[in-house]
Amino acid sequence: MSEQDVKKTSEEVLISANEENEKKPPFQTPKGVHDILPENHDYHTYIKKVVRHRSRQAGFKRISTPIFEFTEVFKRTVGEASDIVNKEMYTFLDRKGRSLTLRPEGTAGVVRAYIQNNMKDLPQPVELYYYSPFFRYEKPQAGRYRQFWQFGFEIIGEKDPALDAQSILISKKIYEDLGIMDSLDLQLNNIGDVESRIKYAEALKDYYYGKERYLSEDDLMRLEKNPIRILDSKNEDTMILNQSAPGFEEFLSKESIEYHNEVKEYLDVLGVKYTENTKLVRGLDYYTQTVYEFWDKKRGSQNSVGGGGRYDGMIELMGGEPTPATGFAMGVERVIAQMKRMKVKVPKKDNLHVFVAQLGKEAKKKCLPLINELRDKGIKTMGALGKGAIKHQLKLADKFNVPYTILIGLTEVRENTAIIRDMRVGSQTTVAFDKVVDEIVKRIGEDKLDFYDPSQPI
Ligand code: AMP
Repeated sequence: MSEQDVKKTSEEVLISANEENEKKPPFQTPKGVHDILPENHDYHTYIKKVVRHRSRQAGFKRISTPIFEFTEVFKRTVGEASDIVNKEMYTFLDRKGRSLTLRPEGTAGVVRAYIQNNMKDLPQPVELYYYSPFFRYEKPQAGRYRQFWQFGFEIIGEKDPALDAQSILISKKIYEDLGIMDSLDLQLNNIGDVESRIKYAEALKDYYYGKERYLSEDDLMRLEKNPIRILDSKNEDTMILNQSAPGFEEFLSKESIEYHNEVKEYLDVLGVKYTENTKLVRGLDYYTQTVYEFWDKKRGSQNSVGGGGRYDGMIELMGGEPTPATGFAMGVERVIAQMKRMKVKVPKKDNLHVFVAQLGKEAKKKCLPLINELRDKGIKTMGALGKGAIKHQLKLADKFNVPYTILIGLTEVRENTAIIRDMRVGSQTTVAFDKVVDEIVKRIGEDKLDFYDPSQPI
């Protein structure tokens, strides 16, 4: 409430709030989803470049799976007892009554594609990456949306602790490239094989039984269906209880302990620092053995910017041959928020080089081909093609923040010339019309030109 509002009666505040609401356009985005406006697209473009570069360096190839899949794809893999499947999926029936779901995460679709397209016949491991939107019906809040973007990669068909360490290194390098790794803490755990988890779940049940009054409704449900998920609870009382709960380490098999030690040895060789967290679990049931998350140092688990791990049982679960796999996914909106917090600047490619102002139909006839030629030469050009006084057009050029304006009025048409105005110092030069493009290219500088090179992948 503002200071002014304090002086108003509550009724007045209500009326002004209603008036405010009335001013809203009739159509708004649904709760929890957002437009990506140009300013944030600069971040997306930059992030996409960074992740593509690191992915290609590591030999990953891009995959895009459909935005919706048969519901069973997620139910079977993400887990019936997970929050995602239980209450966060956008599920609907198509016209033939088949149950479809907007993908809530990336791994299940990629694994479905691996099996469906016989990728087991390709040289293994198959390494794939994606940059796509996902959908979860969550309670919207900062960093938690109903449509969000993830970059992720999957390495399918090979198992070795060295591979886990290498995946973690690639994720870390990406955060470094994005300028936010200093603010993050890598949390690492091994959640063992299926047998270890059954034993661990029993131990957790014993621990929480008798303490039900401290558990939220959701956590009580987890206690029956999948007690390990309680460790990921955001309920304050439960979080306090969790601190004294037994950790995974007591229940791991000898093989899992050895596997985990080897992962850590490789991370040490690579100079990757981590925090061991024996209670780290992930929100999806398909993980086995190595799991990891990148947390904001200040906010902890509430603000995980990404995570991953091994999911060796999933391909078999989906009807394929037993095949080991590991993967990672990073939340793009959370990374952007972190970049902004860390004051990381991204290059803006949308800045214009030149504004073309004109007066009269004859001038327009000269300007249209000129604008076309300037753009073909790599000059980012905007033309004021509507009617309007030159003074008004110059004001517009100022607002667009261009370094140069080209002016063509009646005199310039008659004399076959053009005026180049340097907007930063306000000086003007008249040049022959057929020299304008060369002069602008010279002033902007060859290295700043914006060319589309079709031979380069986007
Ligand atoms: P997950 O698939 O749950 O492991 O999520 C991987 C990453 O995606 C998380 O670490 C978050 O950074 C991000 N993420 C997950 N859910 C959301 C959401 N609802 N809104 C925004 N980002 C999300």
